[in-house]
Amino acid sequence: MPILQPKYETMQPDELEQLQFERLQIILNRALTNVAFYRKLFEEQQIEPHHITSIKDIKKLPFTTRDDVQKSSPYNMFAVPLRDIVRVHSTAGTRGTPVGVGYTKNDIKLWSILVARLMTAAGVNEHDFVQIAFPYGLMTGGFGFHYGAELIGASVIPASAEDIHDQIAIMKNFKTTVLIGRPGYALAIAKVLTEMQMPAETLYLRCGIFGSEPWSEEERKQIETLLKIKAYDSYGLSEVIGPGIAGECEQQNGLHINEDHFLAEIIDPATGTPLPQGEEGELVLTTLSKEAFPLIRYRTGDLTRIIDEPCQCGRTFRRIARVKGRTDDLIFFGGVKFFPSQIQEILLQENGISPNLQIVLGREHNTEFMTIHVEITDKFPGLDEVKALEALRERLSKRIEQNLKIKTQIRLVPPYSTPRAEEKKLIRVIDRRKT
Ligand code: ZN
Repeated sequence: MPILQPKYETMQPDELEQLQFERLQIILNRALTNVAFYRKLFEEQQIEPHHITSIKDIKKLPFTTRDDVQKSSPYNMFAVPLRDIVRVHSTAGTRGTPVGVGYTKNDIKLWSILVARLMTAAGVNEHDFVQIAFPYGLMTGGFGFHYGAELIGASVIPASAEDIHDQIAIMKNFKTTVLIGRPGYALAIAKVLTEMQMPAETLYLRCGIFGSEPWSEEERKQIETLLKIKAYDSYGLSEVIGPGIAGECEQQNGLHINEDHFLAEIIDPATGTPLPQGEEGELVLTTLSKEAFPLIRYRTGDLTRIIDEPCQCGRTFRRIARVKGRTDDLIFFGGVKFFPSQIQEILLQENGISPNLQIVLGREHNTEFMTIHVEITDKFPGLDEVKALEALRERLSKRIEQNLKIKTQIRLVPPYSTPRAEEKKLIRVIDRRKT
């Protein structure tokens, strides 16, 4: 598949490091001159830009946290006069106060290019009809992909977050070839297609780019099988720019970070110490070229690792592994740490199980317990047989015990009987241990 900007995307490591260093110096100077927050922070820590003599010195700089940007929202961390801001967006606000973010004209241009790069890597071209099923609004998904697709020259269908039946009608009517949205939404579309007895082959879809919520390899397989498409992962964060920070190429094996514009590090979320190459921890990003809202060592809260092996696609940018979850989603139970998505991945190895599940944690007589409500779908071969269901229950709890070393109770429930979590996430965790 083609590479949109080979000049950058296939840069040699030493050239890239030089470019990153030059850009870092500019951004540090700009942040210190124009953003009171950074001026104060650097003064407190007695850091001056000339202390940074190579890209490795980045670890001398302090972190910026979500709390910092929330306190400064909407405009206090902007590094340009407000008259130069041409757009504001905001974070979803599911984790506290929404954060306002701003873009200059150049930032919007950059954003378009970054998204166009990842769309090109997924094989999208000017012949495609790209249906964008992210909401068009304050959140960044809709507009970000819109600009990227337009830059490529594809035909954009700004469907936004329509009702699923309408979404399918649009797809059929306009002969959509590329679907963009949340992976959970793609699965919901697949389910409705099945209910409508409408084979995916009657549509024209050939690929999908998904993001904005963690998803597993199992979910990818389900989406690819049910919708008969290639499904690609993308990574973005509204505070940093929106979609376009990283995206998968045709190898579907990690997401290339746009390293000429973002400096990525992995730290231990508990101590803040940078972790050795390849280890899993919290992703920290520094924007290297954004004008309006530069961020230095921003703690994303997302857990992943960096893959520093050559990729067959020819891009030299390092990759991040699929984001496993957020540092604040980690569940501590029975002396073990795990993510809800790990449970989901184990359960989905079985046929006929919906990715929508609910995890309930409780405590009785000082003993912790965990119950997982698992939705069975009509694809389950022994839906009407008590014995088959009982055997399934045992298999699932055994598999979780083997994989995660925790004892759980499985409750099988009918499809769509588990309430969806906020923001339409598929996994809901109810922790009653604290009350
Ligand atoms: Zn690649």
